[in-house]
Amino acid sequence: MKWDEFSDWGKRIAEWTQDYHLTVGDKPVRARTEPGDILNALPARPPEAAQPIEDVFRDFEQIVMPGITHWQHPRFFAYFNSNASAPSVLAEFLASAIAPQCMLWQTSPAATEMETRMMDWLRHALDLPEGFAGVIQDSASSATLAAVLTMREKALKWRGNQQGLFGQKPLRVYCSAEVHTSVDRAIWVAGIGQDNLVRIPIKGGWRGMDPEALEAAIQADLDSGLHPAGVVLCVGGTGTGATDPVDDCLKIARKYGLYSHVDAAWAGSAMICPEYRHYWPGVDQADSIVFNPHKWLGVQFDCCAHFLKDPDDLVQTLAISPEYLKTHGKDGIINYSEWSVPLGRRFRALKLWFVIRAYGLEGLRARLRNHVNWSVALHDRLASEADFQIVTQPMWSLWTFRYAPAGHMDLDELNLRLVNAINDDGRIYLTQTRVDGDLVIRFQAGQFETTEEDVRMAFDVITEIARSLT
Ligand SMILES: *Cc1c(COP(=O)(O)O)cnc(C)c1O
Repeated sequence: MKWDEFSDWGKRIAEWTQDYHLTVGDKPVRARTEPGDILNALPARPPEAAQPIEDVFRDFEQIVMPGITHWQHPRFFAYFNSNASAPSVLAEFLASAIAPQCMLWQTSPAATEMETRMMDWLRHALDLPEGFAGVIQDSASSATLAAVLTMREKALKWRGNQQGLFGQKPLRVYCSAEVHTSVDRAIWVAGIGQDNLVRIPIKGGWRGMDPEALEAAIQADLDSGLHPAGVVLCVGGTGTGATDPVDDCLKIARKYGLYSHVDAAWAGSAMICPEYRHYWPGVDQADSIVFNPHKWLGVQFDCCAHFLKDPDDLVQTLAISPEYLKTHGKDGIINYSEWSVPLGRRFRALKLWFVIRAYGLEGLRARLRNHVNWSVALHDRLASEADFQIVTQPMWSLWTFRYAPAGHMDLDELNLRLVNAINDDGRIYLTQTRVDGDLVIRFQAGQFETTEEDVRMAFDVITEIARSLT
């Protein structure tokens, strides 16, 4: 394909994109293909001869699209949303058109300086104090890995990268049972080992870590000659929105000189609204905070905002500069590849710039508030149905429930059957989790084009399908 044929295709795909987003709500949310359907529809061998884009595009519609689960569907209430708002899609089009690789300042100064400015815009939007510096990581998992590596190196006085962990006292990291699995993986990859990830019991309606138990665990480890290194807190956990008492836990982390990381991958976006900030009091005392604009802020995957109280700790952990990566003769520049595990970096700040300007913070806040209010209203309606139980209360727009008709014994089996039946029906999409061992169904609202009517429809679908099962 030649570049002088591009604009015809660009227009066609722009029209396709607009039409897709305007009509996606008419499709079943979850893909209806069986395992292997797409694989078997794709030829086993690559073509030797060039093929017209016309044919490729036709196959895209016929083979690929049926195997897509529609994350941009207004009734996608599963997992957490991953929104691609219109201005974000435009920005990604431009970023892919110029396709810079933004590992160093000099490999695209605009990308680096835009990233610095956008992270500072987000710092303002969240009302984090001046002094927090930010970097865009590809995902929260990467940010958490970077934070765990930093806690390891700081605890080892920066000797771990050089000497490895052999012969060191075991390092200990503390978190509740509600943190995301990316914390476990970071612990594995950092060489700390699952056995040294200490699970602190939770208490209270927010299912947050018990600070007294945290302090007791740190003290017990010190008494037995182990080496406490850091604390990972969660604000808006993935299963039920579990939220640790940030203030109390950070006080203990500071008392023992432990590095702290706050995972607010989903709920962090909501902190652009002042009325939700009571969920993370004292967060300005954290060393590291992560949230994903690619979940709830309209900026499509991937775009993860990682704030550092002292970026030097992170840079000292991750920077490596062979001669070919050095930028000589320029002072005061940032090479963001020294702030992350991967070297290569996409131009991700551009879509933040487009989205924040196109909606304004007020436009973004209005969406988030609607999602929370509509979700809470749905919760209230379902709570008043005698055959349903609310299992966990709304945390922002997330809560969990069970269908529990009188006399039914195996509720795990019934609710798994219910969530599968709902997803086969296709009007809405939900996922399950476990709370204290019980299988429960999650509801969360957060799709950018969802309406009050879409959320209301979930009530009809859930109650109608549930009652048809028994
Ligand atoms: C989604 C999520 C993650 C993982 O995010 P990625 O960007 O996919 O790595 C981590 N923690 C929490 C609380 C999440 O909700």
